[in-house]
Amino acid sequence: MTKILITGATGQLGQLVLDALSAKAVPVETIAVLVRRQEAAAELQAKGYDVRLGDYSDADNLEAAFAGLDRLLFISSPEIGQRVPQHLNVIKAAKSAGVSFIAYTSLLKADTSKIGFAPEHIATEEALAASGLDYCLLRNAWYTENYLMALPQILEMGQHFGAAGDAKFAPATRADLAQAAAEVLVSAGHEGKIYELAGDDAFTYPEYASTIGELAGKDIAYVDMPEAAYQQALESAGVPGLMASLLANADVAAKEGSLFDDRKGLSKLIGRPTTSLETVLKEALNQ
Ligand code: NAP
Repeated sequence: MTKILITGATGQLGQLVLDALSAKAVPVETIAVLVRRQEAAAELQAKGYDVRLGDYSDADNLEAAFAGLDRLLFISSPEIGQRVPQHLNVIKAAKSAGVSFIAYTSLLKADTSKIGFAPEHIATEEALAASGLDYCLLRNAWYTENYLMALPQILEMGQHFGAAGDAKFAPATRADLAQAAAEVLVSAGHEGKIYELAGDDAFTYPEYASTIGELAGKDIAYVDMPEAAYQQALESAGVPGLMASLLANADVAAKEGSLFDDRKGLSKLIGRPTTSLETVLKEALNQ
């Protein structure tokens, strides 16, 4: 019996991976989850998962947490600035525990991306390559859901702000990316593969603004700003300094194609078209 483990199983992506595994009728007793909080552990245990307690920052307990596992879905840490040491802990522990395959959630086009989040993902990809373990890279696009965070303000102000000009974005929903991760975990032949996982449909910010306008029945304009002014606007809206700077920088990087890909790697992996922006927006506007 092949035993798989999902790290970050309590997170938004991790929960959807568990749903996707359930939809594939993967027996719950073959699924382990890495959890760092007792209350979340109890909840997942009650659902029948094999709960392993562990924290990416605690190298020693990770090896014990990974005992007896075959395949690991390694969901990247959200702790920017801490990811490299945390991720190295995970890879080292997986190797020591005898895990045979790791699927890692990296960043779209990590090796060429100009996005400020890329260096930590590249360091992780390099550590996986150096580990001698079998692995595959799930280079995830930005989540479509990220673009919804400003939706209430966009609707209120009738304006969408950014610094990306007419750059193209091809994000993907967490649910589609989760289905891809589940597929890689339970089927064979993914060793050494690099999957660039973006949505089938791309849009620019002016197109995003006009799609919202059409669906909401009001005029929405896109207002393009210089990077520093956009960063300031994000900070004024309550986004913390480091994140505001990374997001403003990402808009500029998008002009060089860092958030766009048209190879349809995601729809090929999940065997169906990806969920469109329009579908996601309609759902959000109906809530
Ligand atoms: P999320 O909802 O924030 O989930 C993060 C998961 O990581 C949670 O299960 C969390 O556990 C766990 N975690 C955090 N720190 C940990 C640690 N030190 N040791 C062990 N587990 C730890 O994020 P998500 O939306 O599912 O996204 C998954 C990952 O994708 C993120 O962690 C981040 O690396 C990356 N990301 C991608 C995008 C994108 O647009 N593609 C956007 C944001 C983030 P708790 O429940 O205990 O907190």
